[in-house]
Amino acid sequence: MEEKEVVSKNFIELAIDKDLAEGVYDHVCTRFPPEPNGYLHIGHAKSILLNYGLSQEYNGEFHMRFDDTNPTKEKTEFVDSIKADIQWLGADWKDHLYYASDYFPQMYEAAVKLIKKGKAFVCDLSAEEIREYRGTLTEPGKESPYRNRSVEENLDLFERMKNGEFPEGSRTLRAKIDLASGNFNMRDPVIYRIRYMHHHRQGDKWCIYPMYDFAHPIQDAMEHITHSLCSLEFEAHRPLYDWVVNNVSVPNKPRQIEFARLGIDHTVMSKRKLRKLVEEGIVSGWDDPRMPTLCGLRRRGFTPASIRNFCDRIGVAKSASVVEYSFLEHCLREDLNDTAERTMAVLRPVKLVITNYPEGKSETVTVENNPTDPASGTHEITFSRECWIEADDFMEVPVPKYKRLTPNGPECRLKGAYLITCTGCKKDENGNVVEVYAEYDPNSPGGDPADGRKVKGATIHWVDAATALDAEVRVYSELFSDPAPDGADKDFLACMNPESLEVLTGCKVEPRMRDIAAAYDKTEKKGKTAPSFQFMRLGYFCLDNKDCSEEHLVFNRSVTLKDSFKK
Ligand code: ATP
Ligand code: MG
Repeated sequence: MEEKEVVSKNFIELAIDKDLAEGVYDHVCTRFPPEPNGYLHIGHAKSILLNYGLSQEYNGEFHMRFDDTNPTKEKTEFVDSIKADIQWLGADWKDHLYYASDYFPQMYEAAVKLIKKGKAFVCDLSAEEIREYRGTLTEPGKESPYRNRSVEENLDLFERMKNGEFPEGSRTLRAKIDLASGNFNMRDPVIYRIRYMHHHRQGDKWCIYPMYDFAHPIQDAMEHITHSLCSLEFEAHRPLYDWVVNNVSVPNKPRQIEFARLGIDHTVMSKRKLRKLVEEGIVSGWDDPRMPTLCGLRRRGFTPASIRNFCDRIGVAKSASVVEYSFLEHCLREDLNDTAERTMAVLRPVKLVITNYPEGKSETVTVENNPTDPASGTHEITFSRECWIEADDFMEVPVPKYKRLTPNGPECRLKGAYLITCTGCKKDENGNVVEVYAEYDPNSPGGDPADGRKVKGATIHWVDAATALDAEVRVYSELFSDPAPDGADKDFLACMNPESLEVLTGCKVEPRMRDIAAAYDKTEKKGKTAPSFQFMRLGYFCLDNKDCSEEHLVFNRSVTLKDSFKK
């Protein structure tokens, strides 16, 4: 492991240090509050790891809270997947798991108290009218004609809203703040609305639902959250957050701090857009390995360590920036280089026949599991007269400086086995090469010549044709060919890369892959990182956590070997 760099503190740590030094708080408590209306993406991972990391750093607490105050789009399916993803990342909420909807009674009480203090009123304007009354940037808002209802009337109407006496959209509860404020959020914002919807946890118990800006600070305060971290777009909501905290009686006053969202090039990062890709059938699901969702990245072969490392290194800032996808790949490659077992696999096979190797003979050769980690040991593979090699490791008419197999070309090394010299090939009636011929030097076991001569050709990977298994390999590239499909002025569906998935069948892999797939099959595949391998000379590949089985081997290419990230 490389030593952790000493980095200066970010602006959030500095703010926390100051709060602790000044005695504003005597502890640190952070939270991650996802709305269960979709699957988590890598942007959420940044927020999770930031919040969890701070709780660790300051020896505090980390809360997991489902922000399920909007019944329209929430589903238990999402709750379960979000929990699984956060556990996979390694953020531990211990016994601090909360649901915003469990606070509905307290939120209702808080609203009643605001009414009693004359700070909230029931408004009969329609949504459209509220918008018209709100004014513009240069003009103050106009008072709602219902703004001066008596406390008694407001209490009565609000209770009847709760009891389901009024149709949806006919009335709202609004905070009475400041119609002249330069901040629209402060111009008598709606804090409760009527919705006749089934709630995933509360059932039909409620027909009034609090708005996010009212509910969120109350939940934070009730859980004794100290630092409520959110993305930049909530900056203009902070005065309202503080207003709620200061006007509702709460046991603790949390502080909201905003940071820039993570954006990554060649992808989109909003649940709405990701859902669209799923619904339109452009990807195979939320866990399609090309998706920036955590379940997609996991299926692609990303490890929790690679994502943690990525989030650590991009840091947190106040200004929005877009990180290169190649940096995410770089972090994965670094991790897999240390941990992934090496194996040989042939993606586009052609048969190699070693004409001077005895027919029917077979031997075993030993290969290292991971040269960067001698402790990871070795494994044995078989070798015989016929092997599969990569079709492009042979050229009948070579290009200049071609170092691989070509008739009478340079001597090449079959990795871990022998040195061979190509002698020719056989072609079918269409001129396609169907077999490559070579002779081997029996005095070069392991690929080392007995006389110590220099090998001029390349080292080539291979799989013994006598024992190889067929596999399907899915090769991915960017989902969007446009580097900035998330741009405000762009139709992201017009930015897709039509060649983001290539499915190869009839690939050849070592026979032990069947046992590895069988053992993996018996585990809870979906929530786990699948076994990953470095296919020599080709890249990092993992078992597909959905479609791979003992009978039908399926691999996903996680990342190539070549690093395109410019440091
Ligand atoms: P989306 O726009 O993708 O639907 P969201 O903000 O609506 O995201 P939530 O479930 O409400 O999704 O988000 C939970 C938390 O994750 C919020 O605190 C939010 O600020 C944070 N978050 C969401 N997207 C990102 C991102 N790209 N980078 C950093 N944090 C993010
Ligand atoms: Mg949201």
